[in-house]
Amino acid sequence: MKCPRCQANVRSEQTTCSACGFSATLLHSYLGNQWVRLERITDAAHCLRLEDTRRLEIILDDFERSFPQAFFAIYLGALPNNLNVAELGFWLLNQGAFNTHSVNRRNDFGIVLVVDPSAQTAAITLGYAIEHCFTPKTITQMMQTIGSHLRKGAFGMAIGGSCIRASEVLRKHARYMPWQPEASVMAESSADIGLQPLRGWQRPATRPLAELPAPRI
Ligand SMILES: [Zn+2]
Repeated sequence: MKCPRCQANVRSEQTTCSACGFSATLLHSYLGNQWVRLERITDAAHCLRLEDTRRLEIILDDFERSFPQAFFAIYLGALPNNLNVAELGFWLLNQGAFNTHSVNRRNDFGIVLVVDPSAQTAAITLGYAIEHCFTPKTITQMMQTIGSHLRKGAFGMAIGGSCIRASEVLRKHARYMPWQPEASVMAESSADIGLQPLRGWQRPATRPLAELPAPRI
């Protein structure tokens, strides 16, 4: 597992990165620790055209049909200076209640792609239950492909391509996946960055895996 802040290797039993001091508690201190409701595609940066979104919804539907326990979600937005894309991906997969077609999808079977178009960075965060399916080489290749599309401003291609690639990877492993539905409980309250907080079971669902600093155009 990699630290979402400094990319140092962190053992799974560690709660704090010994290299930089990062911890989920630190993220909670400025993002909160309540559940937030999210659409599968959150385009806070308004990067996607209508036809991009429609095409992506079809790709995400195909993904969810192929893998009834998994989901793929995307957040596009300009992040504050104290937050990087891998950290937000980590937090979203731990605190996001994603609006998928089935309520039984668990975040530890989730994949979140966070893109910051202003900083020109992107990160893929994988849930615990599926991270073993993705080798470091696979992740590197996915991030290179995403980076090449993002540099051309092709946000839809970057997202759609990565979702399709994730399907190919998971298909090889799908028959080994356990299926244990678990209900999540949601509630009220308010938050910053336009996300509706929810309350529910608190269980770490993710480890960050890779971050791509894409070169500036
Ligand atoms: Zn660190």
